[in-house]
Amino acid sequence: MNWYSREKRDLPWRATRNPYTVWLSEIILQQTRVAQGTPYYEKFINAYPTVHALAAASEQEILKLWEGLGYYSRARNLHKAAQQVTQEYGGIFPDSYLELLKLKGIGPYTAAAIASICFHEKVPVVDGNVFRLISRLFGIQEDIGKGSTRKIFEQTIAHIMPSSSPGDFNQAMMEFGALVCTPRPQCENCDLQFECQSFREKTQHLLPVKAKKIKIQARTLHYWIFTYEHKICLNKRIKGDIWEGLWDFYSTPTDLFSVASIDRDHNAKASYGPISHKLTHQNIKAWFTQIEVSSALQLTEIAKKLNLTVFNLDELVTLPKPKLIVNYLAQVKF
Ligand code: SF4
Repeated sequence: MNWYSREKRDLPWRATRNPYTVWLSEIILQQTRVAQGTPYYEKFINAYPTVHALAAASEQEILKLWEGLGYYSRARNLHKAAQQVTQEYGGIFPDSYLELLKLKGIGPYTAAAIASICFHEKVPVVDGNVFRLISRLFGIQEDIGKGSTRKIFEQTIAHIMPSSSPGDFNQAMMEFGALVCTPRPQCENCDLQFECQSFREKTQHLLPVKAKKIKIQARTLHYWIFTYEHKICLNKRIKGDIWEGLWDFYSTPTDLFSVASIDRDHNAKASYGPISHKLTHQNIKAWFTQIEVSSALQLTEIAKKLNLTVFNLDELVTLPKPKLIVNYLAQVKF
């Protein structure tokens, strides 16, 4: 904690213990680097300074602001939790770990962060940084990919956690893991060197143990972009697949497609790709073919048949889209 008060980064959400802003920052920073997340935090606080403002926004507005940050379920859950707080808790955040867990998208990690930082509850936060630091400090060899391992870490931390300032302690642990006990640890500059078991045993690089590897699926998307003059057909992504609620184009898994009344080769105006795009569980390769149809009526018929929506081209900018589509649109002109 001495190290933390000396070395902590000056981050915008650290200026407050308001549960709304702490919650917002914690959700944004999940799976996201601080440098990438900070501008999003600023955008959200400016657009929605209170939980009431966030609850009153539409899901599409929130997804649009979240555009490019990935893991879009976080944005959808953020919206639902804001509505829960306003509708079920009278606009006041619940003030205990167990009650916070009832909010949509809040798991043990976020609940512990809010409860300890905002309400001084003595609950340990265990994120990736803390797993790394604690496993090395105490030489814990349990697989952190297993759900049951979290308990072992929580119990270990409970022994060293002070009752007086659990929020600062948790933040110090996370910050230390992010800045010193990093994947390539800076042991030579570490205040904990003489207490660290893995430093003594020279096992820092073997910890933490994570046996389970994420299975990554290769996926091909052939996009067909139907246009007529300044109109374009878009597809709203549905539940149960990546990018729920975001807009892309009609796609097929191979480059074979047939729509009655469309002569694909005759109508194809421009092709582009492949663009590679990596998600946590999928490596996507995407090809794009723009097809200019021959009338507004034909465009409407295609939209109806393929369950698409017709927009004006200038509306594209206002819609929330996956980064893959944003990148593609930056490369082409219609
Ligand atoms: S000595 Fe190295 S491995 Fe141990 S806590 Fe410090 S940085 Fe981490």
